[in-house]
Amino acid sequence: MLPTSWAEVRALAALVPTPTLAATGIFFAWLVFQALLQTVLPGKRVEGQALADGSRLRYRMNGLLAFGVTYLVLAGGVLAGWWPATLAYDHFGPLLVVANLFAFGMAVLLFVHAKLGHTAGQATGKPLVDFFLGAGLNPRLGSFDLKLFFEARPGLIGWTVIVCSLAAAQLEQTGNLSTPMLLVVAFQFVYVLDYFVFEEAILTTLDVMHDGFGWMLCWGDVVWVPFVYCLQAYYLLVQPVSLPPIATAGIVSLNLAGFVLFRWSNLQKHTFRRDPDQPIWGQAPAVIATRNGAGLLVSGFWGIARHLNYTGDLMMALAWGLACGLGSPLPYFYFVYFTLLLVHRERRDHKRCAARYGRAWQAYTRRVRWRFVPGVY
Ligand code: NDP
Repeated sequence: MLPTSWAEVRALAALVPTPTLAATGIFFAWLVFQALLQTVLPGKRVEGQALADGSRLRYRMNGLLAFGVTYLVLAGGVLAGWWPATLAYDHFGPLLVVANLFAFGMAVLLFVHAKLGHTAGQATGKPLVDFFLGAGLNPRLGSFDLKLFFEARPGLIGWTVIVCSLAAAQLEQTGNLSTPMLLVVAFQFVYVLDYFVFEEAILTTLDVMHDGFGWMLCWGDVVWVPFVYCLQAYYLLVQPVSLPPIATAGIVSLNLAGFVLFRWSNLQKHTFRRDPDQPIWGQAPAVIATRNGAGLLVSGFWGIARHLNYTGDLMMALAWGLACGLGSPLPYFYFVYFTLLLVHRERRDHKRCAARYGRAWQAYTRRVRWRFVPGVY
């Protein structure tokens, strides 16, 4: 129900945590620490996909090392007594507000940066659309790629840190870690670790290749991913859940199957884009030629359905919800939201590919009819 008086508005506003000095310090220290790691750690140099003008940006892939160093430093700090393992949980509300303020401010800076012509972009000329979707494609400060940084470092690593902190809070409050909490922490930690192991694959995703860097990606990376994707762990801290061994086995199997499908299909496309002659499942890849050179893969998972990578991701999302039992719809929020996001994303991508590849895309969609699940959707 909407508030009907100023008193009710004030009561609602009072529920919003106040940004504290401590949370502001933690947030900016985290940001600077991650930026330093991206800047100074060694890593393989790779080229991104060709841009509209044919040029390619170079990226340094040191995410896995940054992830490892982050955990060494955090664990070292806990052992030395410099900060508690529950730090992120202790400051959760104020941190969420600080992250929001930062994301909005950063989006304004990105908008101004693009408008001043510092980045090749895709401005529509409509200020609100450009602010929301991003007028610049790959804004950089020198060789520091802002999109790659925000896509992966503070938010994605931050998500795992918050989840570990929630687990530490459960350990502190109850004296042990529940099986559901262990499952959720392990699943999500492995999901992020996997991202860094195959970090290069980010260069052939929609976000990096086609989406502008504006409010949507910035807020999503800095606020939504770390503070909403930890919902299951937060739920398990507040609401103890126990699982029978058979349910645990089923959930682990679902997560594993989803993971294999997600990772393998993403790798097939990534490898194909890098080296179109690499065999897939022991055979030369079947390809539909396109007018602009980049063929469409019809072998492997990409010949079974158009987005089995999304299907695998959704299977994992469901497993994370199921790990929290069936007592509340709340832990399933991520699965429902993610399904909507990926259905919408696939439609958006379909439109873009239809415009880009014309007849070749029509031939591909005739040959590979199903979007997510053969025979279902
Ligand atoms: P994809 O990696 O599926 O990339 C789509 C692009 O791949 C298309 O635009 C096209 O690009 C190319 N492509 C499509 N079909 C073919 C084909 N048959 N052969 C060759 N190239 C093809 O999509 P996303 O970037 O959306 O997703 C990447 C992963 O990230 C997914 O697993 C997804 O689940 C995950 N993800 C996770 C999110 C989260 O919040 N956890 C959010 C979003 C995504 P081109 O024009 O270059 O040919």
